[in-house]
Amino acid sequence: MLSRRRLLSWFAASPAALAYQRSVSAPRGLRIQSVEVLVTNPDQEPMGNFVLVKIQTNEPGLYGWGDATCTGSELGVARFLEEHLAPALVGRNPLEIEHIWHTLFHLPYYRSGSVHMSALSGIDMALWDIKGKVAGLPVYELLGGKVRQELLTYRSVGGRDFSEVEDGVRRLMAEGYRVVKVQVLPPGLEAGYAVPSSERVQRETREAYQRGVPPRQVWETDPYVRTIPKLFEHLRKTVGEEIGLIHDVHERITPSEALVLAKALEPYRLFYFEDPLRPEHLDTFRLIRRQCSTPIAMGEAFTAPWEGHELITEHLIDYVRHDLAHVGGITMGKKIATLCEPYGILTAWHGPGNISPIAHMANCHVSLSVINFGIQEYAVGWGEAVREVFTAFPHYKDGVVTIGDAPGLGIDVNEAAARKRPYLRRFRPAVQRRDGTPWPY
Ligand SMILES: [Mg+2]
Repeated sequence: MLSRRRLLSWFAASPAALAYQRSVSAPRGLRIQSVEVLVTNPDQEPMGNFVLVKIQTNEPGLYGWGDATCTGSELGVARFLEEHLAPALVGRNPLEIEHIWHTLFHLPYYRSGSVHMSALSGIDMALWDIKGKVAGLPVYELLGGKVRQELLTYRSVGGRDFSEVEDGVRRLMAEGYRVVKVQVLPPGLEAGYAVPSSERVQRETREAYQRGVPPRQVWETDPYVRTIPKLFEHLRKTVGEEIGLIHDVHERITPSEALVLAKALEPYRLFYFEDPLRPEHLDTFRLIRRQCSTPIAMGEAFTAPWEGHELITEHLIDYVRHDLAHVGGITMGKKIATLCEPYGILTAWHGPGNISPIAHMANCHVSLSVINFGIQEYAVGWGEAVREVFTAFPHYKDGVVTIGDAPGLGIDVNEAAARKRPYLRRFRPAVQRRDGTPWPY
C-alpha cells in the first residue's frame, strides 16, 4: 500500500493534480495572449483547404485549436479572423465562452453569414478546447457528460449505375456500416452531386483548375427525379430492408419536384431524405410534411444562429444537419440540439471531408453529450498527409465512431507539417442547365 507521503507526491505530479492547480489558479489572471490563423491543404486536394485557429493563453503550454474552414471562402474567413475578430479577443478571459461568443457575434453589426459564422465557430471550438484543458476534462464532460459510448455513423456511395451503387452498399455493409448514403448518376448526364463524373468532365475540370477558373457542370432535374425512386426500388429488392438508406438532393431540384420525390420515396422507408429544398422554401417543407411520412434532414447550409428555426418549432424535419464549423461551434450545436429535444428531432451534424478533423472531434463531443442524437456523419479514410498534420481523429469500427478521453477536444496540430502544405486555390463547380442557366437559380 502507498504511504500517505508517497501518495501525495504521486498526486502532485499527476495530470489530475496539474489540472486541479490550473482550475483553481487559471481563472484568476488567465488571458488570451494571441490568436493565430493557419490555412493548410494537407492533401493538396481541390476541396481540402482547412482554416485553423489557435488561441494561445498567457499560461505557457495552454492553448486551444478550432476549425473555421468554409470551403469556397477560406481566405475570406482567415482575413476576417485576423483583422476583425482576433484583436477583440486579446486580453480576454478565454473561459468566458458565452460572453465572448455574443460579443463577437454582434461586433461587426452586419452579422451572420458563412464568413462571420465560420470564423466565430473556429474561435468557439478553440475556447472549449482551452476550457477542457483547464478543467482536465474532455469537452463532452463539460457539456453534461456522455449519454452514450459510441456514435452511429454512415458512409456515402456514388455510382454510375444501380449495380455500381449496389456493389458499394454491399461493400460497406461488409465493413459494418448499418446506414449508407446512396447517390447515382442520372441517365444522360455526365456529372452530379457526389457521383463519379465522365472522363470528359474530369478532363475539363482539370483544365479549368489549370486556368484558375471554376469548372462547369451541366445538370438537369427531370432525369434525376425519374431515376432516384427506381434506385431505391432496386436497392430494397437487392440489399434488403435491414440497411438504413439516406439520399441527399443537395437542393438541386425545384420545390414541386422535391414534393414529388419525397412522396415517391415513401415506400422505401429511408433513414432520411436530405436537403430536398433550399432553406427559404419553408412553404414546401410544410407541404411535404402534410403529404408524406418520408423523414427529412436539413441544416448544413445554415449560417445564422437560428436560421431555419421554424423547421424545428413546426416539426417540419426529423434530423438537424447543421455544420458546427459554420453555425457557431460547440456552443450553438448544444443549443440547437436542446431546441430540438421536445420535438423529438434528432441530430445528424454535417461531417464531410472538407472540414478538418478538429471540427469532426467537436461534432463527436456534442453528439456524445446530447440525448437526441441520431447519427454522426464522419469522413473515414483521411490520407497520410492529413494524419501527419493532426494528432488525433475519431476512431471508426463496426459502423460506429468513438473518441478518446483527453482533456479539451483531444486533438493537436503539427504546425510545421501544416505549413509545408499551404492553401491551394480551387473552385466548386459552376452548375448550369443545358441552356446555360445557373442552377439552382
Ligand atoms: Mg447534404
